Amino acid sequence: MAASNKFDAALDAFARIVGPDNVTRAAEARYEYADAMAPRDPASYAPRGAVAPASVEEVQAIVRLAGEHGVPLWPISRGKNFGYGGSAPRIPDIVTLDLIRMNRILEVDVEHGYALLEPGVGFDDLFEYLTANKIPLWMSAPAHTWGSVVGNALERGVGYTPYGEHASKICGLEVVTGTGELLRTGMGALAGSKTWQGFPYGFGPAWDTAFMQSNFGIVTKMGLWLMPEPENTVSLSMALEKAEELPAAIDALRPLKLDGTVQANPSFGNVIRTLATRATRAEYYQGAGPMPADVLEKARIKAGVGHWNFSVRLFGDRKINAINADKVKAAFHGKVSAEFQQSEWNRGEPLRNSGSPMPSLGALGVVDWLGGKGGHLTFSPVSPFSGAEAWKQYTLIRGMFEDAGFDYYGGFTAGQRYLNHITMILFDRSQPDMLERANKLFPRLISTAAKNGWGEYRTHVLWYDEVAASYDYNHGAMRRWNEAVKDAVDPKGVIAPGKMGIWPKAYRKDRA
Ligand code: ADP
Repeated sequence: MAASNKFDAALDAFARIVGPDNVTRAAEARYEYADAMAPRDPASYAPRGAVAPASVEEVQAIVRLAGEHGVPLWPISRGKNFGYGGSAPRIPDIVTLDLIRMNRILEVDVEHGYALLEPGVGFDDLFEYLTANKIPLWMSAPAHTWGSVVGNALERGVGYTPYGEHASKICGLEVVTGTGELLRTGMGALAGSKTWQGFPYGFGPAWDTAFMQSNFGIVTKMGLWLMPEPENTVSLSMALEKAEELPAAIDALRPLKLDGTVQANPSFGNVIRTLATRATRAEYYQGAGPMPADVLEKARIKAGVGHWNFSVRLFGDRKINAINADKVKAAFHGKVSAEFQQSEWNRGEPLRNSGSPMPSLGALGVVDWLGGKGGHLTFSPVSPFSGAEAWKQYTLIRGMFEDAGFDYYGGFTAGQRYLNHITMILFDRSQPDMLERANKLFPRLISTAAKNGWGEYRTHVLWYDEVAASYDYNHGAMRRWNEAVKDAVDPKGVIAPGKMGIWPKAYRKDRA
């Protein structure tokens, strides 16, 4: 059957399951499910169509039909994975499985502090549900909140409360496999289990993590631990005026993260990250290439911000936070020239200044830094939690951004034993020269990082293969393992071929 007929036939079959209104044909899918932020023609890797099921049974039926028609599926939850590809698939000959209609909050157990969610639930929905029902549990969320809780946690997104390492708060998944089988992980494998969202491991190998950043299954339910609302939060904000003070600040923070004094993930954002949320670049500079250092310094002073800006936020009992705030201040005192600005929130006060995530799209404004049609690519290498190593990574990557004619936009978000260095190449999509430079820069960043022992924690759909190839220990033993599992559990390669550089046998020729 000709390729286009194959997709039309599959979409017709899907329409009989979900109704024609929940199937999107190629002409429309090209716009609706493309990556509008990428430095490529979005239509060049947009899918052949999309289908939006409303139940687990419909997902299973679609997966089985997809196998029969030889049509692969690209699952998304809300498709807001921008900077990493949004809803766009790795290959265009695919149908997007849009789970947005499966958006029920199935359970929030207040006593035990967890939620059971369907993939289409947005951060805004969960926030609304918790506040409307006066539930004293907080979610954690990334800087903008229109995406899904499930998709973000599966991609190992980060937030800024003590529960900010989202993947580590997942407890128990329900998964549809590539053959249409339904399974539950952890304690969920015991029918009628009372601890599916309590005990994360089950009996034998634990598989939750194998379904994260993965194409081994389609997640249809996720257990997620939520944080009890604290009595008090303290915010200690600092603006470092000199770029060179970053290593000292990182080294001051490390012991506090290691021993648990600081449980949330402070993020050291550079000056352009701070400026880009407030203004466009043209307000400071109209020239081509990266902003010169003296212009940037003037802009920084005018805006009254630091070269690095960050806050350490403490969540817990008021008395303990007061002790820990003194500990944090003492740890930084004398190591950096700035002092902390302190503020406090107590339970019952408006959440705005509490450190609890609130619905927000503020961070999205940064893509308009250059004006025109804003676009961005996120490059996210992991750094050891060391000032010297972070400085080496920062200066090297910043130099590469600037050599390619881009402003360096980035920050280091502190995990317990690592730093997530999240940088963005910001460009104007109406300037072909900029797109070309971004496309050339990106693979160079990957290989330079790998040569220095730094791997990315996540990447854009266009560069899965390059990043996967950089994980090359023992001639790529990890990739061979992943593909052996893929072939065993999804022999027809129905689910997301090429996701994270994992290619099922039938599609391996498509590897970049
Ligand atoms: P969000 O809307 O939260 O930003 P997306 O829906 O864009 O998240 O999902 C990000 C990526 O995670 C998708 O491209 C897909 O590869 C994967 N993903 C999302 N939801 C699921 C799911 N329910 N099952 C399996 N993989 C998923």
